[in-house]
Amino acid sequence: MSPSTTLNPCRTMRKALERLARGERGCLWLAYVRLHVRRCRRCQQALDALLRYFDRVRDVPEVPTLDWDRMSAGFDEVDREHRLGSKPPNRSP
Ligand SMILES: [Zn+2]
Repeated sequence: MSPSTTLNPCRTMRKALERLARGERGCLWLAYVRLHVRRCRRCQQALDALLRYFDRVRDVPEVPTLDWDRMSAGFDEVDREHRLGSKPPNRSP
């Protein structure tokens, strides 16, 4: 796994980043989070990746809530799973 695919935003920002990436706006907390993202490289990278992700799954009727613990381990794996339709990936050791 390359480091660029690992999501490791500040822990308290995870859910808010997901909400931003899903297009939510307008609450004070999310406004604060947007300010934080401008100054925090980790959250910025995570938000960029999430925006790309939600753009790719735009046509999926209900994108499941993200499992942050697994995403931290490897965003690509979660991404692949969602695109393949909840089928667990075949792991090679
Ligand atoms: Zn941050």
